[in-house]
Amino acid sequence: MFPSRFMPCPECGGSVERAEQESHACDPERRLDFRMFLLREEILSFERQFHEFADTRDGRFETWVASRTVRGRP
Ligand SMILES: [Zn+2]
Repeated sequence: MFPSRFMPCPECGGSVERAEQESHACDPERRLDFRMFLLREEILSFERQFHEFADTRDGRFETWVASRTVRGRP
């Protein structure tokens, strides 16, 4: 593989020319989008784990307690 002229910026995910790596400044909006993109996977796997847990006996109990707690609010 040929080394690319461009490198993905680890902060914002943008492609940055190697020569400009030193002077590159991340676009804050782009950096935020990139963070959200990386977090998405974590959020999805958390949700999967949560649903798996909610399906277990303990999970059903927790869900029941939580729903009672919510309904019991004045
Ligand atoms: Zn950047």
